[in-house]
Amino acid sequence: MTRKIPTHVDVAIVGSGPSGATYARVLTELRPDLELATFEVGPVVSDPPGSHVKNIVDADERSAAQHASEGPSAGDISDGRLRRPGTFLLPEGFQQDGEDGIPSAAMSSNVGGMAAHWTCACPRPGDSERIDFIDELDDLLTEAERLLCVSRHAFDGAPFADEVRRRLGGEFDPIRSPGREVQPMPLAVQVDGEGRVTWSGSDVVFGDETRANPRHQLVPEALVRRLIIEDGRATGIEVVDLTDRSVHVVTAGEVVVAADSLRTPQLLWASGVRPHALGRYLNDQPQVIHAVRLRDVADAAVADVDPRGRSVIVGQSGVSWVPFTDEEPFHGQVMQLDASPVPLAPGDVPQPGTIVGLGWFCAKDLQADDRVEFDDTATDGYGLPAMRLHYRLTDTDRASLAAARQAVQRAARALGEPLDPEPRTLPGGASLHYQGTVRMGAADDGTSVCDQYSRVWGVDGLRVAGNGVIPTSTACNPTLTSVALAVAGARHIAETVSTTAIQEALA
Ligand code: FAD
Repeated sequence: MTRKIPTHVDVAIVGSGPSGATYARVLTELRPDLELATFEVGPVVSDPPGSHVKNIVDADERSAAQHASEGPSAGDISDGRLRRPGTFLLPEGFQQDGEDGIPSAAMSSNVGGMAAHWTCACPRPGDSERIDFIDELDDLLTEAERLLCVSRHAFDGAPFADEVRRRLGGEFDPIRSPGREVQPMPLAVQVDGEGRVTWSGSDVVFGDETRANPRHQLVPEALVRRLIIEDGRATGIEVVDLTDRSVHVVTAGEVVVAADSLRTPQLLWASGVRPHALGRYLNDQPQVIHAVRLRDVADAAVADVDPRGRSVIVGQSGVSWVPFTDEEPFHGQVMQLDASPVPLAPGDVPQPGTIVGLGWFCAKDLQADDRVEFDDTATDGYGLPAMRLHYRLTDTDRASLAAARQAVQRAARALGEPLDPEPRTLPGGASLHYQGTVRMGAADDGTSVCDQYSRVWGVDGLRVAGNGVIPTSTACNPTLTSVALAVAGARHIAETVSTTAIQEALA
């Protein structure tokens, strides 16, 4: 039976990751009178739709959900580039001659987007990471923490976590201001009274409120291939129903494109919306990793196994945070593991939690020339304009990477004995935090694509969402910030849009 795709909505949302889900949830709460629909090119891979695949107990089911998220070329890419389960890599165009490129540029196509596969770290940006023209940023971040169910205390009881933070704090805290000391990583996760762990995905952002909203429809396997722009206004979208290849026009009062940092500018480009900054200032946080074995720790009791079998790892894990500061411009993420990531001597089985993985993210030296370009003739696996990345690390970036290597070695020495002699620099794209391509700005001066409410300059009724709107050079994980910026955009729609006004606009 052909499913029913709406012909008109008040707000059409493209993409069901946490940014798109934020618009659906906030509008559901503030404006239950509005007709809403979220269109997602990928399938439902988890229950509730958009939930984190780590919550799937059965390993085969989990792996099938990851595979189903890997887009039209799932499994095709075997050229040795680093790829995380649940994601697929840009098949070509990721590196131009003489440039660094972003070899591991990745995407996910599933209800929930990348947030069905993410690590759930939700730090607040600090110092120069913050967006100085948004006065209410802290209020927006607080709301984003509510929507993502962020907790600072989920794993307070993890073995050795206090000791890890004490040692890191001894090394890094002396020059830090209040609030930016070493601390537990805020995580989007809920732990119930019996210790069961549920990682947040878009399902948590949608929430029961959106699922119960009779005026919201989630439409999976629906490719939005074009925005309809008439007389400088977005009036709808053109959707391909991938279940039967039928094509539908959905008129809309407002359109929100939350289709990730590469595909949001792609859809604008495909629709003839091509502001100068579109696709530019592309940035990916260079990353250095290292691993150590904690020295001098007493044996700790092994935590109980989760009755549903899914928090065994977590019960042994602590995640600590060394926040970004202008003086030490790195974001440090320190994860205690239940097993060693590298082979140890035969018979050497480390106590869970005593092997610690360190990841230091750098802030990119932003350049307008770092960009995703789109082809007017060649297409990608979805039939949308093929992408070509131009990307270079500057001398400043190389100096920053060298300093990050030193910082991660300082952290490792404070904690214990490194497993490898040197830290490793990950390939470009490994951060999975791509930003800047539809960045917001305080003025329409050619260096930004949208305003602080995510309205695309010069096109009424069109907003963009996701990490691409973040204009600053951040080192911290971006999702909390992009959800906060989506909250601002959704609140603005709630305050400014009336269904009558929309109908008049369309008349
Ligand atoms: P996405 O989640 O990417 O969702 C975009 C959606 O749009 C996708 O589902 C896509 O299929 C859909 N779409 C694209 N084009 C179209 C179209 N034309 N029509 C219809 N639908 C379309 N971030 C953090 O902050 N902290 C972390 O700890 C962290 N860890 C990560 C670990 C892993 C392994 C991965 C993969 C990611 C991680 N991230 C982390 C990144 C995080 O998942 C993303 O920042 C976040 O999901 C971005 O949300 P989004 O809604 O903007 O985009």
